[in-house]
Amino acid sequence: MNPPCTGLSYLVRQEGHAGGSPYPLRDGMVAMKPFEEFPDPLKKSIRYVLTDIDDTLTIKGRITSFVFSAMERLQGAGLHVLPITGRSAGWCDHIARMWPVDGLVGENGAFYFRYDSSRKKMVRRYLKSEEQRKKDRTELEKIAGIILEKVPGCQIASDQSYRETDLAIDFCEDVPPLPMEQVEQIVRCFEEAGARARISSIHVNGWFGTHDKLTTTALLFEEVFKVTLEQVKDRVIFIGDSPNDGPMFAYYPHSVGVANLLRFRDKIEEEPSWITRERGGRGFVEMADILLRGRAE
Ligand SMILES: [Mg+2]
Repeated sequence: MNPPCTGLSYLVRQEGHAGGSPYPLRDGMVAMKPFEEFPDPLKKSIRYVLTDIDDTLTIKGRITSFVFSAMERLQGAGLHVLPITGRSAGWCDHIARMWPVDGLVGENGAFYFRYDSSRKKMVRRYLKSEEQRKKDRTELEKIAGIILEKVPGCQIASDQSYRETDLAIDFCEDVPPLPMEQVEQIVRCFEEAGARARISSIHVNGWFGTHDKLTTTALLFEEVFKVTLEQVKDRVIFIGDSPNDGPMFAYYPHSVGVANLLRFRDKIEEEPSWITRERGGRGFVEMADILLRGRAE
């Protein structure tokens, strides 16, 4: 059973740690440290803030003015802010155009979008051709039928109409939360049909192809910033909240979880290096405040 969603203070109490890391370790794992201990010299070296959206920027499904303000303040300090999300192409078009961001990766790495304000032009960089995306959608529709039949209680995600490349199954956003066993059954349906699948905090996303959030982020860095991600990964902060952020937590030396990550502790294979005290968007603001304060000093 998952631990209850009661955050850091609960775990500190439950685990009975009076000092040091409150997070017990699995074999071979390094403890997550409170982000407030992030060293000042590292704060000054950070150039990129990569962030998940759902339950990392949001609080109960919404983004507060404090979160937008934190993103603006990060940009104002010269940092590049880039959401890395499973959200749909339609949403990402809006985000790239209107949010305080420098671009974003969407649909779990199927593309990156960037609004070039100097040329007033939207850059949409897909990994697959339009023809291939159309073929994939036909196959994914068949998988959707199988999942809806086999897993009662889930539904097609509300943003599916605006997706170009993947199928999102809602298990927690607009439906009552499903038990993890059924969420895993959705994943199996995708995999049996030859698709990849990832669990976010609200959806299971499935798609065809080898791309993922990390590979497409690397492509964005090469094509937009003209650097390899590997060269600059120690100048990146990645912040997220759920198992589908695991590969990023493992890759970036300065990965951060917001406190609600703790509800997935028995499902996540790679934990971040750091964790915030606060949950969701409040955790993101906490990270931004600590980072900016240290850079100013
Ligand atoms: Mg999330």
